[in-house]
Amino acid sequence: MCVFCKIAAGEIPAATLYEDEKFRVILDMAPVSAGHALIIPKNHIDNVFDAPEDILAAIFPLAKKIASAQKKGLGCDGINIVQNNGKSAGQTVFHLHVHSVPRFEDDGKKLSFKPDKTSEIDFAETAIDFAETARRIMEVMQ
Ligand code: ZN
Repeated sequence: MCVFCKIAAGEIPAATLYEDEKFRVILDMAPVSAGHALIIPKNHIDNVFDAPEDILAAIFPLAKKIASAQKKGLGCDGINIVQNNGKSAGQTVFHLHVHSVPRFEDDGKKLSFKPDKTSEIDFAETAIDFAETARRIMEVMQ
């Protein structure tokens, strides 16, 4: 059983913000900012690729509920809702989870990935072929 399965089952204590039959929402023990929450499905799911549709359909409304409460309760200016899939994407616990991170103006925090520098220059001169990139994604979309 993975660490998030144990947390979701209540076997490892965590500051729980919300719980229902499908999810537990806790405060991250290593927060990016105070109030950094993790939305964790109770059933083990590795990542978005393995996630059932009902979980995916429920998770974003729940993220909105948590983010709204963070904004109202903590007075933050903004919220980053982040979800990582796979080691290369920064996933460190391989049990699907969504981060909801309170943000404040001038808090000095940045998402750790940087946009490709080419996106900051003239699109016509960029190394990214946007049409081809879009085509490759769209042709396999189901
Ligand atoms: Zn798990």
